[in-house]
Amino acid sequence: MLKILEMTLKTGIQTTKYPQEPDIAPLDFRGKPEIFPDSCTFCGNCVAVCPSNVIRIKEDNGEMVLVLSYCGCIFCGRCDEVCSGGAIKLTQEYEMASRTKDDLYCIIRRKV
Ligand code: SF4
Ligand code: SF4
Repeated sequence: MLKILEMTLKTGIQTTKYPQEPDIAPLDFRGKPEIFPDSCTFCGNCVAVCPSNVIRIKEDNGEMVLVLSYCGCIFCGRCDEVCSGGAIKLTQEYEMASRTKDDLYCIIRRKV
C-alpha cells in the first residue's frame, strides 16, 4: 500500500480532467459522422456499404431525403471511404449522449 502511494506521489496525476475540461480526440479518431448537404448527390454509395444499415435514402413529396441514424453506427468509416464527393466525414466528436431520439438523426433533403 505504501509502495503504491509512494509511486503515485512520484508520477503525479496520470488521468485527464475530462469531463471537467474538454479532451480532444486524436486526429485519426473515428467519431460521429457529419454530412455536408451541399456536397451530397444522393448516389447511395454510403447506404450500400454501411454494415449497420443506419443510412437510408428515400423520395418524399418530390424531395430526396437522406437519413443517418447515429443509433447503431459503429464508426467503421466505410461511408466516409466511399463518398467520393466528401459529403460524409467521420469527425473527432465522441460526445453523443442525448435526451431525445431526434438528436440522434441527421436528415438532409434536396428537391428532385
Ligand atoms: S453522403 Fe456521399 S455516398 Fe452518401 S449519398 Fe451522399 S454523396 Fe453519396
Ligand atoms: S461509420 Fe459505418 S456504421 Fe456508421 S454510418 Fe458510416 S458506414 Fe454506417
